[in-house]
Amino acid sequence: MASYYVNTNAQDNGDHEVHREGCRVMPALANRLYLGDFAGCHAAVGAAKQHYRQSNGCIHCSPDCHTS
Ligand SMILES: [Zn+2]
Repeated sequence: MASYYVNTNAQDNGDHEVHREGCRVMPALANRLYLGDFAGCHAAVGAAKQHYRQSNGCIHCSPDCHTS
């Protein structure tokens, strides 16, 4: 299990990126929302979509959940 966070600020394309704890491009504390502990990024992105319909896995820490 790992802790996942979603960026409360959208990217230029409107995506809210989902990050795993320890990601090197983790958003600043003020700009992230804790989603919970999940076994993988798919469940984390699902949780993020409860907050932001346009959520996407971070290409660095959650490439399996990243769609371009
Ligand atoms: Zn990341």
